[in-house]
Amino acid sequence: MQFNEMNILPAILKAIEEEGYHTPTQIQQEAIPILLKGHDLLGCAQTGTGKTAAFGIPLIENIDSTTKDTQALVLSPTRELALQVAEQLTLLGKKKGVRVVTIYGGASYRTQIDGIKRGAHIVVATPGRLVDFLEQKMIKLQSVKTVVLDEADEMLSMGFKEALETILSATQPDDSDSVRAACRTWLFSATMSSEV
Ligand code: AMP
Repeated sequence: MQFNEMNILPAILKAIEEEGYHTPTQIQQEAIPILLKGHDLLGCAQTGTGKTAAFGIPLIENIDSTTKDTQALVLSPTRELALQVAEQLTLLGKKKGVRVVTIYGGASYRTQIDGIKRGAHIVVATPGRLVDFLEQKMIKLQSVKTVVLDEADEMLSMGFKEALETILSATQPDDSDSVRAACRTWLFSATMSSEV
């Protein structure tokens, strides 16, 4: 299947074309149709397979850019990966007006806080710094509808299990009667263990 046969918005198809992607990679062929339908996914994929666009295209498709709410959260094990993912999401989402903000450790809080204040439809974060933001009430995640755990095995082996639990519980609305906001979870991992 080609990108233009996948029911992708014209604004995103244009960005895909500008990125120079002609044929979807295997994981994109398999994952995009499933994710566009709003299903959960557990994907086994290494870096270099095109997995960022495999989740990025459906993620951007689902963003309502007429509100400022943070609707999607991508968790990455390292700052380098977070920045790479954010760059790709920014390029794919620019024609739809999707704003992407990256939150990671080892850098000043100022720029990251300003980014969140201006409105971030998608937040790409490393777990440790995002927990800091949550504890200091500098970010709200109650409107998040999709959580992507990128390189989940790496995050666990780096000791982020507790941080991930804190973050996932912050994606639930305050009102416990309402439906869990983060209804979709897309998990990618190079290896699958029972812990993952
Ligand atoms: P990733 O596995 O997401 O880190 O992607 C690896 C590289 O492949 C990145 O530089 C992407 O820009 C590129 N890429 C992703 N999808 C495609 C595609 N369908 N065609 C060509 N290049 C792609």
